[in-house]
Amino acid sequence: MSELTQLRIVIVGGGTAGWMTAAALGRFYEGASVTLVESDEIGIVGVGEATIPHIVTFNQALGIDEAEFVAATGATYKLGIAFEGWGAPDEAYVHAFGQVGRGIGLLPFHQYWLRARSLGFAKPFGHYLLNTIILAGDRFAHIEREPENPLPPVPYAFHFDASLYARFLRGFAEKRGVVRQEGRIVAVNRHPTSGDVASVTLANGTQVDGELFIDCSGFRGLLIEQELEAGFEDWSHWLPCDRATAVPCASVTPVTPYTRAIARKAGWQWRIPLQHRIGNGHVYCSRHVSEDEATSILLANIDGEQMAEPRTLRFTTGRRRKAWVRNVVAIGLSSGFIEPLESTSIHLIQTAVNRLLELLPRGEISEFTRESYNARAAFEMERLRDFIVLHYHANGRVGGALWDELRTIEIPDTLHQRIELFRETGGVFPSLDELFDLRGWVQVMIGQGVMPKRWHPLADTIEESRLRHFLEMTEQAYVQEAARLPDHGAYVSRFAPMPRQDVAAGASA
Ligand code: FAD
Repeated sequence: MSELTQLRIVIVGGGTAGWMTAAALGRFYEGASVTLVESDEIGIVGVGEATIPHIVTFNQALGIDEAEFVAATGATYKLGIAFEGWGAPDEAYVHAFGQVGRGIGLLPFHQYWLRARSLGFAKPFGHYLLNTIILAGDRFAHIEREPENPLPPVPYAFHFDASLYARFLRGFAEKRGVVRQEGRIVAVNRHPTSGDVASVTLANGTQVDGELFIDCSGFRGLLIEQELEAGFEDWSHWLPCDRATAVPCASVTPVTPYTRAIARKAGWQWRIPLQHRIGNGHVYCSRHVSEDEATSILLANIDGEQMAEPRTLRFTTGRRRKAWVRNVVAIGLSSGFIEPLESTSIHLIQTAVNRLLELLPRGEISEFTRESYNARAAFEMERLRDFIVLHYHANGRVGGALWDELRTIEIPDTLHQRIELFRETGGVFPSLDELFDLRGWVQVMIGQGVMPKRWHPLADTIEESRLRHFLEMTEQAYVQEAARLPDHGAYVSRFAPMPRQDVAAGASA
């Protein structure tokens, strides 16, 4: 028996977090003892439907066949997010995945674009992003390029049905030895001397013992907060939205290969097209809009026939002060929550699972292990928080109470410095550990009108005529590339159609 197979791991919760963790442990630590406890009576949040490209790597690492996964979860493809009405009520921009522009010199593309803009011949930024051009035409296909092809890759993510993803991963994990235990946990039992969690007791009296507990119990944080009182750092003064009302509606065409994030009176609305329905939701601040009004706004702005009653979720933005306490690691909503504006929660589950796999204890858990995990988790969430605050702070919705408030609040120092540096120099220097790199920051800042005062002087070393030609050629090459791709909806229904009975049932709607 190896050290790892001696360790009994108990996962508390069977939402996206629980089953992603279980699938990864089952895949990489075959033979380890992993039990997942979940309660059908309590259910899951089940609204995480938009992702970012790292999910492709997660699925690939697990060895999941993409077509099988897309069909099983009613997934469609996602090339970016369209932000509508954020910079100003009648403006839109896209935060697309992938390369920004094309390499021309030493500097990042946007520095040359800034110069071209001041010379009057640059088109809006999105004209030079391949994914933005492709998604504007509602197209998609998997693209494999020869190494010598100068066109950039087309990174993608998925829109999928979160409940079906959890179900899919459950099948995957159970085949790899993970044991599912149905039941509501009514007590958490501590070791009398060490104080570690020793077991959980279910309503039917069953006791589940373990040495390592992964708390995937959702917002309640059953072990990490209710039992171990890890504490919560509340960020709602920066991100005051605290409710989301969600409702599915029937699909319409075209099936857009992007998420829409449409600014509303006191929040924003998401639109996520799946194969069998469209997921819609309204994230809002309850200080500025009532639940009734928020629901009316949502229902007045859905594209297809309403398929279920609206459901409202409450949340507080922030992070657990310590995600790993004693022998309990919180993953998913139990570790904190940042609203889904950039579709990042499932990604945070993925990085938490990676960290856990790297640090999985082989014996007694050291304080260094916990500290290392907690420091990295905190850094990741704080930088992500800054990125989301940027969207709200740099809004141009003058006259909206929430929007006016957020434009003028004191923002985190780390964000303030980044915005000022960009204004002064056009530079963005995110650290390697940050989720969003220069490409994301530049698109959102420029998209919402945070403009540098000047461009880098090296951008002047290119002749004006050459710069003009370069921009024209870049756009033309991308437009041509996009034009050869098929319609996204048609492609998905050929590549990995959802079984008809699931479509008819609206699946989990
Ligand atoms: P949950 O889904 O709440 O699961 C908790 C589990 O714990 C359940 O199985 C429950 O039965 C179990 N449990 C709890 N208490 C007990 C008990 N006493 N006994 C036994 N079992 C128990 N993320 C994205 O990446 N993209 C998005 O577009 C996105 N949109 C979102 C929109 C909203 C409004 C919200 C709130 C979240 C969104 N998320 C999104 C986040 C995403 O939904 C979650 O990160 C994801 O679902 C993980 O949830 P979870 O597994 O941590 O918790």
